[in-house]
Amino acid sequence: MIKNECEIIKDLMPNYIEDVISKETKEFVENHIQKCSNCKKILDELQKEKVNENNKNNLKEFSEINYLKKYNTRINIFKFIAIILIIAITSMWGYILYRNYCNKKNYEYAYNHYEYVHNIVATAYENVEKFKENENLSFIKYIGVDSQSFYYKDGKFKQEWVTKDENKIIWTKYGIMVEDGYDMIQFHGENNYAAGHFNFSNDKKPKDKSEFVNVNCLETFYRMEIMNSLSLEVRDDTFENKECYVVRNKLNDKEYDEIWIEKKDMIPIRFTDEFGRQIRYEWSTGNVTDEDVTIKDKSRKTDNKLYNDILDRLLS
Ligand SMILES: [Zn+2]
Repeated sequence: MIKNECEIIKDLMPNYIEDVISKETKEFVENHIQKCSNCKKILDELQKEKVNENNKNNLKEFSEINYLKKYNTRINIFKFIAIILIIAITSMWGYILYRNYCNKKNYEYAYNHYEYVHNIVATAYENVEKFKENENLSFIKYIGVDSQSFYYKDGKFKQEWVTKDENKIIWTKYGIMVEDGYDMIQFHGENNYAAGHFNFSNDKKPKDKSEFVNVNCLETFYRMEIMNSLSLEVRDDTFENKECYVVRNKLNDKEYDEIWIEKKDMIPIRFTDEFGRQIRYEWSTGNVTDEDVTIKDKSRKTDNKLYNDILDRLLS
């Protein structure tokens, strides 16, 4: 074997390993390898190296793929979070807009309802206030079968509680309005009496008749705010052939109070509740005489100084 052939084979080895040689050259290399253990050894080494290098490349490729995979996963997580965030923010914003819209709608409804109901109640309330300004008026409340009447003329008044079934006067009160309230004498039954001075509370004007002229719940209905007025309902009804607005205040599912406002004069004529109890109101002006507000039994003098003083003023 010539030494030169080994050198040629060595030069051919890289191409042999890469398999980029002709069939004849390949056979030439293989023939030589079979005969020359030295070249075989070198070729084996080279082939091992080649395998290692391939492995290395594979490994490198593998880690690159892994990196790309991880990178993609991370990108996907970010995308996912971004989408979730966008959905969350959009929904939240949508919810807020929707809530605002609903609140606005609810408020509009409440406001329109308030305007409608309040106009009726306020008109009745103002008419009662106007009524109280009269210098000659009578106001009678029928509570069941009893009546509580209030007669007023030029600063003097009489209030009386009568039980209709027995036609019995429970008490009669005579009074005279003064600067900050009223002085009064009250007779109970036959012989008992009381006398005293009563201050009007600070938020009432002097000579205010509110204490005697009042409709159950009217002021409460009148002072109801927009949202609270949602518990008020209005319907049309008639009472003793009088056309009325009936304003019902629902206290809860079962309980309610109603004020019946006569349409003709826009004044309350009746109060009812869920138990069928009722109070009726009678309003009149200009019918009260001096006789109506004057103590009839002028002889009922006593040794009480305050009583005598008030009696003198009531008689004068
Ligand atoms: Zn050789």
